[in-house]
Amino acid sequence: MATPRIVALTAPSGAGKTTVAQRVLSLVAGLSFSVSATTRPPRDGERDGVDYHFVSENDFRRMLDGDLLIESEEVYPDLFYGTPRAEVEKATRDQPVLLDIDVLGALRISKLYRDDTLTVFIRPPSMDVLRNRLLGRGSEGTESLGKRLRRVQFEMEHADRFDAVVVNDDLERAVAETVSLINAFLERQST
Ligand code: 5GP
Repeated sequence: MATPRIVALTAPSGAGKTTVAQRVLSLVAGLSFSVSATTRPPRDGERDGVDYHFVSENDFRRMLDGDLLIESEEVYPDLFYGTPRAEVEKATRDQPVLLDIDVLGALRISKLYRDDTLTVFIRPPSMDVLRNRLLGRGSEGTESLGKRLRRVQFEMEHADRFDAVVVNDDLERAVAETVSLINAFLERQST
């Protein structure tokens, strides 16, 4: 029985996904954030157990071995990210979860939970806007910025495999469009 309950939100770094995600979480009733595990170090202001479960590579491997992650990805060289099985399995139509996830992770989740999942790709208006947003964020060293920009190209190539693509040219419009897509998905009848 399919039950709409998983929203996988994907965007190239700097496309504004985190802001869209936070706004969407406050606007869709019952929607909660699926906290991923990662081996990347926390950025300023990020909290363990809230933004991510920040774990060592050994702990990440132990989670994988224990089948505690439903999907995982080396999103950047030597930086691992994974969705805890428990976050997805506890989700229901009334208490759906939002996954902030890379392009491959989103497609994998959608394959595992086809009719339970809505995949949304947040697209930046242009590569220039994206580069400037990443530079403006100032949280990335030059090497990390380069890595992220290379990754963007790759992610953009998969946009057409998503259920919906939302262009983030205007934040309010992008949030409104994402919220209405999610509400329509959650209102869908079970089959
Ligand atoms: P960031 O380091 O900027 O927080 O995240 C980098 C990328 O990893 C983003 O595209 C983010 O969506 C993705 N990501 C975060 N959590 C997960 C996860 O659990 N699984 C996968 N596959 N990607 C994730």
